[in-house]
Amino acid sequence: MNRLERIKGCLLGGAVGDALGAPVEFLDWSAIRATFGARGIIDFAPAYGRVGAITDDTQMMLFTAEGLLRAYVRGISRGICNVPGVIHHALLRWLMTQDYSPATSVDVSVNGWLVQERALWSRRAPGQTCLSALKASSSLGFLAQNNSKGCGAVMRVAPCAFFRNAFDNAAESGRLTHGHPTGYMAAGLFADILQRIVDGQDHLEDAIAKSLAEYGDKRGMEETRAIVERVLFFSYEGHRPTPERIDELGGGWIAEEALAIGIWCALTARSFEDGVINAVNHSGDSDSTGLIAGHLLGIQHGVEAIPDRWLEPLELRGVIEAVAEDIERVPRDYSGYGGEYDDEIWERYPGG
Ligand SMILES: [Mg+2]
Repeated sequence: MNRLERIKGCLLGGAVGDALGAPVEFLDWSAIRATFGARGIIDFAPAYGRVGAITDDTQMMLFTAEGLLRAYVRGISRGICNVPGVIHHALLRWLMTQDYSPATSVDVSVNGWLVQERALWSRRAPGQTCLSALKASSSLGFLAQNNSKGCGAVMRVAPCAFFRNAFDNAAESGRLTHGHPTGYMAAGLFADILQRIVDGQDHLEDAIAKSLAEYGDKRGMEETRAIVERVLFFSYEGHRPTPERIDELGGGWIAEEALAIGIWCALTARSFEDGVINAVNHSGDSDSTGLIAGHLLGIQHGVEAIPDRWLEPLELRGVIEAVAEDIERVPRDYSGYGGEYDDEIWERYPGG
């Protein structure tokens, strides 16, 4: 499988998991079962007025990708670039799509193609921590002044896996909205695991083991490491995730739980479909855990593994594919000194 198929599989897989979980994000397992039957939700159902609706998780993931692409273009053109600062600017564009603005001292450039996609200008139960941290930003790179370890950083950082310094860029950009170390260190670990799969072609288990070996002893990683090791053990022992077992582990509203639930469901999945269905059927934050499992399964098995019945109605499918293609081609095609595609790429991702 080539790199583009893995990138597309990762981004579309995450969005599909987000969309499957969207209708049940705020339902506990007994309500999900009462509504959808004994197996829970196994197909897209209406949310936000349509079938296949993505949520704030996918929106913020796309703006993170946009920030990384702009940072790449800027770095090539200017030779120096603060990547988390450029991601911050992209996240502030997302904030504008939610009809909010940051502190008056920050002037947000509403340029580039992504923010002009009208379908992104829609509120999908955006997380309060992300909103309030971004609204309070008084400069680019301004760190969150809270102690939150909600899963709002983990759920958006997958695109960091496709650029250098995945761990640092994910953790540092996570810190823009989440001040508790677990909130942003879990984000770093997630991006690093994905990077080992896309570049090292590692199996998921090996990727997790290597990421823990490299980053597991870092300060702030204690909670994430403990729960990820727990689900690794569950999977070695053959314990498959059920709604009840996931509820025992946690709800996934906080970073380390969301990551662990996503990893457990991906590790034990018999197929993309099986893993993502397991990841959304529980009492907790179904769209985020669905997205995390979907990213992990999509990057391993590619877009081919995602059922057509989910890809076809997926909201923003074309936008997500375009972002995946740009992630693959911009580092190849952008030269920074008047190459054939430079003007076109600069217009899409103004690095200024
Ligand atoms: Mg959401």
